[in-house]
Amino acid sequence: MILVFGRTGQVARELARQAPEACFLGRDEADLSDPEACARAIREAKPDAVINAAAWTAVDRAEEEEAPATVVNGAAPGAMARVCAELGIPFVQISTDYVFDGSGERPWRPEDPVGPLGAYGRSKLAGEEAVRAAGGTHAILRTSWVFSAHGTNFVKTMLRLGATRDRLTVVMDQVGGPTPAKDIAATCLAMARALTSNPDLSGTYHLSGGPDVNWADFAREIFRQAGLPCEVQDIPSSDYPQKAHRPANSRMDCSGLSRFGLSRPDWRQGLARVLSDLQGASS
Ligand code: NDP
Repeated sequence: MILVFGRTGQVARELARQAPEACFLGRDEADLSDPEACARAIREAKPDAVINAAAWTAVDRAEEEEAPATVVNGAAPGAMARVCAELGIPFVQISTDYVFDGSGERPWRPEDPVGPLGAYGRSKLAGEEAVRAAGGTHAILRTSWVFSAHGTNFVKTMLRLGATRDRLTVVMDQVGGPTPAKDIAATCLAMARALTSNPDLSGTYHLSGGPDVNWADFAREIFRQAGLPCEVQDIPSSDYPQKAHRPANSRMDCSGLSRFGLSRPDWRQGLARVLSDLQGASS
């Protein structure tokens, strides 16, 4: 049995679709603000593998609440990974492109030096370090720009704004790979299963949708596929100030996925699926 932390998030919901037989723990059953409670939950469930799909994802709020964000994103996965190491079972932790400083234009490789620009990135990096330090069988899967039919994400924000406006300004100087939550879920499951028979696959991996794109072009493709006549005007990030600084280069080298027989998904196909899910939900 696979135990999943998270029930309501974008990736957790896709995990539930793809592996309904897994056991899902929501905040009520395991609060990541209490790492010891998470460790206890694993001991009680006695699973064959654990996937952590829960996290503090409020990037701007983390700037003012770094200590609690670091408990949720750092100490809790650390505690989970230690119990998994003790029990000899694989642990899959989802991380982020925000561990990098966003410099250059080359896709980041898993072994490249990290340098988070803000509190959220630092808290997720603390999680990565704690998982590696636990010394068990693990995969750290860094991903970026997650979207799905659920929760809050860029696709849903654009659809909402694009429905009532003729024109929108969108940032053009941040480049990365939009990633369907569905592909993240499928990859986590494949990793948990592969690690069970082959612990040598332990390590850090990247998964983002291709081709790389900037936010403005991503918005244009959303409007094109959705048939919304909303014009997108490019702006620099300096014209869209946010509390947390975002990396300019979020391109990621995903070639390590081939060790699991996987490759980079095309986000444009993932977008089409999400739009059709949303249409189905509203009709
Ligand atoms: P969501 O924001 O959609 O969901 C977060 C989940 O974490 C929710 O289920 C939430 O539960 C749960 N959670 C938050 N705090 C706690 C807590 N204290 N105790 C228990 N559960 C908690 O996240 P995503 O599915 O988008 O993200 C999945 C992973 O991907 C995360 O590790 C994230 O850091 C990473 N990631 C996400 C990116 C993105 O663009 N979203 C980009 C790069 C990486 P509740 O509903 O109760 O709040």
